[in-house]
Amino acid sequence: KDTDHVFEALLNTAAELSSLEEEELLEERWIKEVVKRSGMKYRWARLTQDRERENKDATRRVLEPDRLQPRPPVVTIMGHVDHGKTSLLDALRRSQLVEQEAGGITQHIGAFLVGLPTGEQVTFLDTPGHAAFTSMRARGAHATDIIILVVAADDGVMNQTVESIQHAKKAQVPIIVAVNKCDKPQAEPERVARELLEHGVVGEEYGGHVQIIPVSARKGDNLLLLTEATVALAEVLELKADPSGPVEGVVIESRTDRGKGAVASVIVQQGTVRRGCVLVAGRSWAKVRFLFDEQGQALEGAGPSRAVQLVGWKDLPSAGEELLEVESEQRAREVVEWRSYKEDQAPPEGGPEGDPGETAGAPGSATSRRGRPMPTSAGARGRQRCTRANRQQAAMRPSEKTHKTQRSLPLILKGDVDGSVEAILSLLESYDAEDQCHMELVHFGVGEVSENDVRLAETFSGSIYGFNVSASKSILRLAEKKGVQIHLHTIIYKLVDDLKDELSSTLPPPW
Ligand code: GDP
Repeated sequence: KDTDHVFEALLNTAAELSSLEEEELLEERWIKEVVKRSGMKYRWARLTQDRERENKDATRRVLEPDRLQPRPPVVTIMGHVDHGKTSLLDALRRSQLVEQEAGGITQHIGAFLVGLPTGEQVTFLDTPGHAAFTSMRARGAHATDIIILVVAADDGVMNQTVESIQHAKKAQVPIIVAVNKCDKPQAEPERVARELLEHGVVGEEYGGHVQIIPVSARKGDNLLLLTEATVALAEVLELKADPSGPVEGVVIESRTDRGKGAVASVIVQQGTVRRGCVLVAGRSWAKVRFLFDEQGQALEGAGPSRAVQLVGWKDLPSAGEELLEVESEQRAREVVEWRSYKEDQAPPEGGPEGDPGETAGAPGSATSRRGRPMPTSAGARGRQRCTRANRQQAAMRPSEKTHKTQRSLPLILKGDVDGSVEAILSLLESYDAEDQCHMELVHFGVGEVSENDVRLAETFSGSIYGFNVSASKSILRLAEKKGVQIHLHTIIYKLVDDLKDELSSTLPPPW
């Protein structure tokens, strides 16, 4: 019911409708077509369409401001080699162990939590250096709220110090500087602060906002001060998250454990992970069987900013991958299948067919898919089952189930954008319901009608349909010579009507 209201409000907003992108306009047309033909209420048609889209991938939810609660910051330590990143992490971890009197062996799970006596907490990512940070960034993951830049007090600003500053700036992540090795006699923390100025890192004593804390990882000096500085900055940043609702997060590392199987450590960003949660990350999914913290303790749940190791993955997800909760195992499988399909659809580099007219948004397959039964209803369930992944699989499958009395129409479909091809395919599938007649989708793709299309059509005795695409004069001449029909349309339902007419006029094959 809620969704209904939302869509109604949305659709009533003229501004919203007028700013629809091309692809969405196509969807609009599709929906109107469904409404016209089925008498279905507009908003139900809209819902059907949205459900289908949702079906293809897991999505992030919309945050509700009144559910947000403060969360601990997630911190990455960066800096020049040998300046003490690992030592600092070790010292912070040790400080925590003593405090908690856990006395156990810490497990490496990619991150650990440090608590202050006042109750605040900070999650430190355990992999120092910017390789991990950039690999996550490259995947679009924003796992870090604050960067602690370690600079050795005797060495000063070096190459990788500068690189780290650049990474932080690019990612718009604020910095705290830990001037390390202050126990050394040759330590010159003031020089470090001066050198940092040249790179736009302005300490508080120079009138800037960057906190510069002298520490010694070796002696454990000022670690509390550093953690407090981090918490203070986190307060300024007003870091918040919604601990209820579906889980969102990011994978920080994964490996195969002899006892536990595939395990992945994640940072929870929204929601609370619990046993039994169904999660997807990249092309793998998990039904969470167990959660462990960095002390190896089994947890009941882990909320925002907590690092937790999850057991129950079907495959190993990769670091940096986005973690999303879905409602069921079935849904998780669909999402993973859809993603695998999408990835397999990546443009072939110098593909075997070498069709220059194609931008290969959806290259399809030259294999026919004769005899594939089509869903008979335009309703949600029928449509959900005919995802593009299924379609692709069907197109790949050898045509073993052909009934000899069936009429069939080999078809080549070209569209201006991937979305339009997709929309037409969906539409065709919902209309190609009669048992006696089947489309054989020989090839579909994005781009102008090409010579290759004409040759395919000739080989399969098929027709070419184009939506919002053109065909050059030479192509039209070639088609005429080969007896291939090219149908070009700019309105989806006209294309579909045209195609239906051709389908029904197709004579059964003579055998
Ligand atoms: P990373 O390459 O940045 O991870 O640096 P490491 O943590 O491996 O430290 C490099 C070297 O500096 C090691 O020999 C450490 O023992 C030494 N080191 C690290 N922190 C301190 C410190 O606070 N004081 C002194 N004197 N040496 C340190």
